Amino acid sequence: MSNDYEGVKIGLEIHCQLTALNTKMFCNCSSDYRGNSPNTLLCTVCTGLPGSLPVLNKRALEAAIKIGLALNCKISSNSNFFRKNYFYPDSPKNYQITQYDKAGGIAIANNGHVETNLGGVRITRIQMEEDPGKLQYEGSITTSSNTLIDYNRAGISLVEIVTEPDIVSPKHAREFLNTIQSIVETIGECDSKLDGSMRADANVSISDGRRVEVKNITSFKEVERALNFEITRQKTIQAASKMETRHWDDVRRVTVTLRVKEGEEGYRYFPDPDLPPMVISDDYVDELRKSLPELPEMRLKRFTEEIKLSEEIARIIIRNKIVADYFEETLSYDFNPKLLSGWIATDIMGYLNRNNIEFADLPIKAKTLAFLSKSVSDSKVNDSTAKAILLKSLSSGTDIEDLLKSELADSVSSDDLPDIIEKVISDNPKALEDAKNDPQAIHFLIGQVMKATRGRANHSKVKELIEKQLN
Ligand SMILES: [Zn+2]
Repeated sequence: MSNDYEGVKIGLEIHCQLTALNTKMFCNCSSDYRGNSPNTLLCTVCTGLPGSLPVLNKRALEAAIKIGLALNCKISSNSNFFRKNYFYPDSPKNYQITQYDKAGGIAIANNGHVETNLGGVRITRIQMEEDPGKLQYEGSITTSSNTLIDYNRAGISLVEIVTEPDIVSPKHAREFLNTIQSIVETIGECDSKLDGSMRADANVSISDGRRVEVKNITSFKEVERALNFEITRQKTIQAASKMETRHWDDVRRVTVTLRVKEGEEGYRYFPDPDLPPMVISDDYVDELRKSLPELPEMRLKRFTEEIKLSEEIARIIIRNKIVADYFEETLSYDFNPKLLSGWIATDIMGYLNRNNIEFADLPIKAKTLAFLSKSVSDSKVNDSTAKAILLKSLSSGTDIEDLLKSELADSVSSDDLPDIIEKVISDNPKALEDAKNDPQAIHFLIGQVMKATRGRANHSKVKELIEKQLN
């Protein structure tokens, strides 16, 4: 690793919306807030009007426990909700229902760990909380003259995944986030493709102890960029000695001071008197554990042990559920794991990365890629020809089947055609005589050659070679 990151420690707080839920965390308002008119999905509970009472959505608890189990956490048998009090326009009731790890509070899941290609990361805790409303700025937060507020998002169910400062570089942070994304997508509780469904805050410190929090990083590519910016900034500005919170401005691509960090006491946390403590039985946790699908780490084990992929290639593939599902689909058509995994992990993903294209937008269907690998399995083309066809299809957009067809036609005409023509002529001596007398009769011989090559020969090339024989 480069010395640029020596002494760097990064901790992340990842907010993950539980997008599979139909209603908000403590009321019956629809959670389908995207694309709806602002401030239409509201009730007395999520706006905190006097006399209203929150009731926990059981599905939120279930999803949080499943995510906790998938991140190897210990699930708390007793857990409770706290009020985090603050006065800010995104919170209509002036407090947020969340969990707290002090003053008798305990989060739903604690002490987990996650492996990645660049090293493991310990999970401190996973807490359940509600999303605040959404502030919108025209253009950028630093240049907008006014703020618009939409409370439709207020009360949406979230889990916040808090890590220990085990992350050692911006790249490691991105790798870790990809792993988390792959896990929550596999469980089916968070659809990360939905805008704003996964957001991260990062705290960055360098060996001398300065610690800065960067908030509002809304995509994983931005995480790497924001962290690189912040590390360079901290290393070059000596005065950055204060604890502070900075906001990532993804339009200008800089961090800006948001506020000098408030102490926790500023939030006056206390147990929410409207929500009873949760008592979670071992049986319930076991039931949820059994309901979990095959997780990325289990898939990795299957890919390396049963399918015999190298760990490096297998990790690249399992890191994204869409990629792993695609790979398995290709195998269902042509079981050639080594060739297919190599194409996917290096050629295809390399091409997509260079061109900033998401894997989900790959124009080559799994069945088509398997068709190409099958032509290698069947010795119709060799590895390098097949790879050239794949790369050509990616760059030109031409269909693989068309490229393969013309490749096969070419290969027949260049290598095997003279022999095939000779055999057709010796099998049909009379036809040769006929063709010498009647130019139209040549078509019979051409037809026989095309038949012998199952249509893979180039028609005009065949005609040319037969004419040569006639003369
Ligand atoms: Zn509501």
